[in-house]
Amino acid sequence: MDAVLVINADLGPLHRVTVQHAIRMLCRQVAEIHEAEPDRVIGVFPMPRVVRLVRFVVTRWRFSSGPAWSRAGVLRRDHRCCAYCGGPASTIDHILPRSRGGRNTWRNTTAACYACNQRKGDRTPTEAGMPLRREPVNPGWAALAGR
Ligand SMILES: [Zn+2]
Repeated sequence: MDAVLVINADLGPLHRVTVQHAIRMLCRQVAEIHEAEPDRVIGVFPMPRVVRLVRFVVTRWRFSSGPAWSRAGVLRRDHRCCAYCGGPASTIDHILPRSRGGRNTWRNTTAACYACNQRKGDRTPTEAGMPLRREPVNPGWAALAGR
């Protein structure tokens, strides 16, 4: 009963919020009343049942797949720490070497120091006998922010 449906500016349903939250949205003028309870008021507003966002919100965030790959991003993700020896890293190693079809992806690249990168060369970690100290992952935006 106390849930208010929020709909997008194109009338697509988004989610439910509490009445208090809906009132705050109305006060901040980010939403307008789309449907109200008859004969009920809350403060200066009719009791909302459905509020409609004033501005269209893109619900499929273009960031949903995470940040695009970059060399600088790999170094930040890995705290500039070599995946093979744990020392300070300044280079990017392709786990499956590029010469063998390895691509520039978060999962196929890791921070590595120059020495380890040279030593590994055109081999996979298994072939080189150089196990990875950590699994390379797709970073979220937070992992790359502010460092
Ligand atoms: Zn190293």
